[in-house]
Amino acid sequence: MPVLVYTENAEGKFKKSTFEVVSYGRAVADQLGTSLTAISIGNVSADELAALGKYGAEKVLNVSNSQLKNFVNQAYASVIAAAADKEGADVVILSNSFSGRGLAPRIGVKLEAGVADGAVALPETAGNKFTVKKTAFSGKAFATVELTSAKKVISLTPNTYKVEEKGGGAPVEDFAPAVKESDFRAIVKEIVRATDKVSLPDADIVVSGGRGLKGPENWGMVEELANLLGGATACSKPVSDAGWRPHSEHVGQTGIAVSPNLYIAIGISGAIQHLAGISRSKVIVAINKDPEAPIFKVADYGIVGDAFEVVPKLIEAVKTY
Ligand code: FAD
Repeated sequence: MPVLVYTENAEGKFKKSTFEVVSYGRAVADQLGTSLTAISIGNVSADELAALGKYGAEKVLNVSNSQLKNFVNQAYASVIAAAADKEGADVVILSNSFSGRGLAPRIGVKLEAGVADGAVALPETAGNKFTVKKTAFSGKAFATVELTSAKKVISLTPNTYKVEEKGGGAPVEDFAPAVKESDFRAIVKEIVRATDKVSLPDADIVVSGGRGLKGPENWGMVEELANLLGGATACSKPVSDAGWRPHSEHVGQTGIAVSPNLYIAIGISGAIQHLAGISRSKVIVAINKDPEAPIFKVADYGIVGDAFEVVPKLIEAVKTY
């Protein structure tokens, strides 16, 4: 019974989390002594599809239906579940990304499978048990859950599993399951990207600003630092609520959960709801003028100072580095 992994792409290019998911799927398949099939939905080039073999996929199912050009939760879940049925897959793995969080429970219902969302490690498969360590309570704790159902769905927390190159190319097979009209209750007609900046959930470096930056006119230095570091910009909830920054940049319990290698928090107090979205960052740097700010309790490096003095100096230092 092969393992099936869903590979996400953005405008025809696989996301970084896709290579993590395929590498993780390879390791799970090896543990279970089975093969690994990947499914791709959308307009990805044949070369890119075949290259999934490098990360351990033995076969790639390619779904290129014009109705599925843009992500539609219910329809994508139906297609992935149909692929699992076709392959006889007992384990379906996907990223715990924005879309993965919507897909995993839907696929779980369709396959009558137990779901472990937000896995942070390979499953333990000793004996007849199948347990998965995953995040709980918005990333504030870990839980180990046992999946007792015959079929299982795992969504992998981005940035927690190392990408590993193992094999060569993989054969690509067209897969065209019937899609029902009822799966298209809500349709995304067009996605217009405002900028060509790095996408926040995938970013290795995130430069984030809070209410301490006083107003939208002061975001130039946040953007400049992010651009210099090749990172994405983010913000706290009150900042997006005030319309200083778009809601797509709001990080935290009610926003996006990020897991970059470096998170720079500028003028952010570190409220528990904000920390819920950044706790999986590998290194947190805080810049805040209040030495008692809670952000310093979770920061690996802290600078107590006025952001309007510290950030320009940081920018100069990065430029001359
Ligand atoms: P503040 O708390 O006002 O902090 C501003 C910080 O800037 C202060 O620490 C101050 O010392 C510092 N500062 C001021 N001037 C300077 C300067 N010149 N230089 C350097 N530092 C300076 N918040 C989120 O972010 N994400 C969420 O998902 C989220 N979800 C929520 C859900 C619920 C149900 C609730 C009730 C709240 C939620 N919040 C969320 C809000 C959260 O509780 C905080 O209010 C919010 O995170 C505070 O944002 P902030 O740190 O930007 O602002």
